[in-house]
Amino acid sequence: HRHSLDLKNAIRAIPDYPKPGIIFRDITTLLGDARAFRRAVDELVQPFAGLKIAKIAGIEARGFILGGAVAHQLSAGFVPVRKKGKLPHETVSVTYQLEYGTDEIEVHKDAVKRGERVLLVDDLVATGGTAEAAVNLLSSLGAEVVAACFIVDLPDLGGADKVRRLGVPVRTLVA
Ligand code: IMP
Repeated sequence: HRHSLDLKNAIRAIPDYPKPGIIFRDITTLLGDARAFRRAVDELVQPFAGLKIAKIAGIEARGFILGGAVAHQLSAGFVPVRKKGKLPHETVSVTYQLEYGTDEIEVHKDAVKRGERVLLVDDLVATGGTAEAAVNLLSSLGAEVVAACFIVDLPDLGGADKVRRLGVPVRTLVA
């Protein structure tokens, strides 16, 4: 598909970042390319227009950039899912496993209402640990996580399937 090839070409691979043996997918080149950025957002939202999405939940930090654009496109609100300690009001948080150690994300308790239809957005799904934690967090507040979408999937790491096993459909644009 020509468009997803364009998107793939707009993303840069950085070897040995943040540590030796890791190839980091750097989407800043896509964000800086007006046509690619617009196309990525248009393609991400395409299945969700008309699905009455109330809120976009974006995962810090690149999920904020994409999530803001997606929220505008779908006329939805935006909810930041943040690293621990950044949100000023009452929060709920969840701890999840990393390769080495744990991490913690949180949202404001009043950021979503019970039964509200939420679309989760991030730049990339790797192991799926972060997205799984975000789905659990939003579900714990009673939100209905309608789907999760990402520009990049690293399918060898199985993250998209991990999220699908939670009953949440996953859309990705580039593998
Ligand atoms: P996961 O929890 O293993 O799926 O990792 C996904 C999270 O880590 C997302 O928030 C991504 O932004 C970030 N991440 C992991 N690998 C990369 C990468 O190669 N490029 C950009 N972000 C990445």
